[in-house]
Amino acid sequence: MVQGRLAKKTKPLFYMEIYHENYEMNATHLQRCFNFSPGPATLPEAVLHRIQADFPVWQGQGASVMEVSHRSTAFMALAAKVEADCRRLLVIPEHYAVLFMPGGARGQFDAVPMNLLPATPNAVANYFAVGVWSQVAIEAARRHAQVHIVASGEDSDYSEIPDPASWSFAEQGGYCFFVDNETIDGVAFQTPPSVPEDMPLVTDMSSSLFSKPIDIERYGVIVACAQKNLGISGITLAIVRQDLLDKARPYTPDVLNYTKMAAQQSMLNTPPTFPWYVTGLVFEWLLAEGGLARIAEHNQAKAAQLYAVLDDLDFYRCPVQPAHRSLMNVVFYCPSPELDAQLVAFAAERGCLNIKGHARKGGLRLSLYNAMPKAGVATMVEVLRTFAQQYG
Ligand SMILES: *Cc1c(COP(=O)(O)O)cnc(C)c1O
Repeated sequence: MVQGRLAKKTKPLFYMEIYHENYEMNATHLQRCFNFSPGPATLPEAVLHRIQADFPVWQGQGASVMEVSHRSTAFMALAAKVEADCRRLLVIPEHYAVLFMPGGARGQFDAVPMNLLPATPNAVANYFAVGVWSQVAIEAARRHAQVHIVASGEDSDYSEIPDPASWSFAEQGGYCFFVDNETIDGVAFQTPPSVPEDMPLVTDMSSSLFSKPIDIERYGVIVACAQKNLGISGITLAIVRQDLLDKARPYTPDVLNYTKMAAQQSMLNTPPTFPWYVTGLVFEWLLAEGGLARIAEHNQAKAAQLYAVLDDLDFYRCPVQPAHRSLMNVVFYCPSPELDAQLVAFAAERGCLNIKGHARKGGLRLSLYNAMPKAGVATMVEVLRTFAQQYG
């Protein structure tokens, strides 16, 4: 299937009318387009074809992967392989547990304080407030503990990571939490923050894990939902340093309890087997692509190309400070909201879909996860240039 080409204009399809109200009704996308969605996000085409080939019979099991027991030999082997590939890609040492959890990243916003903080009324946790997802995490943490804000980007409308000189920690805090890449605001930590010694660093890497090599030993806990860079929605990765297990508060639901999930190889209840399988295929794809160092080079190049065009042309405005820009989510504005909306339609007609910004921010957002091909970025660059020429 040719990527990025539009099918011949045909009469509107039922699903188009419902889901694609932003687009011209005469532009149908019957062929695969470049999908800049922030999540659920584009998957590698090779993975999609592999899924297709695994239907309706998977690995000689006489049934598809969706229909076999999670305790079957075949599925248990799959789970072991997914964990091994995950450890290999991220270089995860033995003293970390790799858990596959339900409940998405938001579930982890409650799981983290429930699992890590003592059950005392005055427990404190440190949080960076650097964007929308930080705020959501902070609201969740306040259900369980006092939250100390280490630094807030609110004054700059989350266009930068506050200067380390301004950070302050509650030294008695149980851990320090930060969102590595703010998917909605397009702002990202370039290196993990330095925190007081012995304070576990906890991070939500939903939109950046597997986009670059990281030093796992800097972290106590890393969480990431799958539907950005590691598969489809329904499964959430939690990498937990072993010494942080056995601390969960008694009211913690079993399925969010790191200790209990670790003891049951993430199969305490029926796990999301199909998303687990898809994550396994994405890991195999990442390994075949040469691993995270190679992927990081591609990601650098893709983002640099887009920021260069946006900065070069007088027409567009990127609100995020260059030193703190996300490589995964490029946030920008046209000169007016009307032009923003026109660009969404203009890009869609040229095979570039889902570039509208989040409702909280307006404007536009290009999500460039691992699976976004170079050709998608090249097409988008052309779209941005042509649009600025026509409307500038
Ligand atoms: C997408 C996202 C979330 C929310 O994930 P859910 O699986 O929908 O709960 C949280 N944090 C970040 C950084 C995200 O990108």
